[in-house]
Amino acid sequence: MSERQLIKCGYLITMENAPGGISAGQILIEDGKIVHVAPQIDAADARVIDASDMIVMPGFVDTHRHTWQTCVRHRCADIHPPFAYFQEMMFKRGPRYRPEDVWIGNYLGALSAIDGGVTTMLDWSQIQNTPEHSDAAVDALQQSGIRAVFGHGWSLTEAGSRTPNSVRPHPADIARLRRERFSSDDSLLTLVMAGRGPEIASTETWQSDLKLARDLGIRSSIHMGAFAFNGAKRGIAEMNKYGMLGDDITFIHCNSSADDELQMIADNGVTVSLGVYVEMNSPGLGDIPLDRLLALGVRPSLSGDTETLGSADMFTQMRSALAYYRSYVGGGHSRAVNPPETITTRDVLQFATVEGARANGMLHKIGTIAPGKSADIIMIRLSEINLLPVIDPVAAVVIGCHPGNVDTVMVEGRILKKDGKLVGIDLADIRQRAHESQHYILAD
Ligand SMILES: [Zn+2]
Repeated sequence: MSERQLIKCGYLITMENAPGGISAGQILIEDGKIVHVAPQIDAADARVIDASDMIVMPGFVDTHRHTWQTCVRHRCADIHPPFAYFQEMMFKRGPRYRPEDVWIGNYLGALSAIDGGVTTMLDWSQIQNTPEHSDAAVDALQQSGIRAVFGHGWSLTEAGSRTPNSVRPHPADIARLRRERFSSDDSLLTLVMAGRGPEIASTETWQSDLKLARDLGIRSSIHMGAFAFNGAKRGIAEMNKYGMLGDDITFIHCNSSADDELQMIADNGVTVSLGVYVEMNSPGLGDIPLDRLLALGVRPSLSGDTETLGSADMFTQMRSALAYYRSYVGGGHSRAVNPPETITTRDVLQFATVEGARANGMLHKIGTIAPGKSADIIMIRLSEINLLPVIDPVAAVVIGCHPGNVDTVMVEGRILKKDGKLVGIDLADIRQRAHESQHYILAD
């Protein structure tokens, strides 16, 4: 007997049609899949979820988060200069991580994401110090219940992994993970290569890494153009020169990438992830290229990046993108040719859902509420003191919401947060493990 759930929505934001597809409506879910969306559905046998006082919408999709760092969140809040983050996390703390530190960091980070309505997250995990570290990261994502894309990166303990012109190949363990833990592309957990690209690896190395990802049938996610010194390396142009750009690649940041390189992104169907808040909060990382991307027709996804110096929730990302754009472009600072004069709350909500799904290669499965898609759905209480009385549900979500307003979160029809509380977690145990791990990581 299949399990059927019927959600009776107050406001339904499907994100299916511009400008956001808002209506009252009902959603019928069968075995984790959306089977019907209509103003009224007759399904007497279904379990009814009364969301008459809720905004019902697709879960958020985060395309780049260094989840392993969650137990030292806020560590670099006032760190200066910005490169000190790399010194602190990549060179000082990262090498001492044990598998259990990766586990609790990822578990806590994934639960935080769910708590804030993120139903899919790309875990950008450059903490592959041993295969056990990778397995711990994957275990934690799995146990949280989130839909996760595990971005397999490199080791922080092997010399030469993250040095300019690195000749060390991407860790071969990625092939084992593909075989043993990610053999199905239909499961909740999928694999990408968290690659180094031309800014870090030598020409032969980044090319063979990318070829390995393609041989394994997985996407690649690569940091690109953060800070002027990286932009000067013209990594996108380098990849384009060899004809190796494609729609299986997501570039993160691109702040200092040149205009002609952004055109190469547009021409090759490459997707982009902007960690807007962290980009603003890292002096010198570079102007957010949202105006230059939109002028070329490239719509970015959004990402929480690192919680060591920013809040990772998607409300923060959406608000930051909106306010930055209006301040920067509205203030006459844009150097793009014909950028949109302004952007709207609907635009940033689309970045946080639809474009995230596209950048993770999953738009056929998630990112909107439509028949045939997975029931990755969130519900936001309208009766909250910081939201009522709602005029425009999209504006309320983007301008007014915080994670505490998220009442219900479901991934593939399975409820992970209900009545404002995460389901089936042992908070005392999590707290104790997180404290212990933080103490260990930060001990000098
Ligand atoms: Zn990053």
